[in-house]
Amino acid sequence: MVLLKCPICGNDVNVPDDSLPGEIVEHECGAQLEVFNSNGKLALRLAEQVGEDWGE
Ligand SMILES: [Zn+2]
Repeated sequence: MVLLKCPICGNDVNVPDDSLPGEIVEHECGAQLEVFNSNGKLALRLAEQVGEDWGE
């Protein structure tokens, strides 16, 4: 596992070693985080909210 920081709440986030950029991780604070490659290292950012408009 790789220990990263949640950009939203600042707490630690465990991400599998084999995570790939573009993967979505849901953190305990409720944020949807996207794994991305930052200078050769994994990092997290807030995933874009998509597919919210299909409604009921
Ligand atoms: Zn969080």
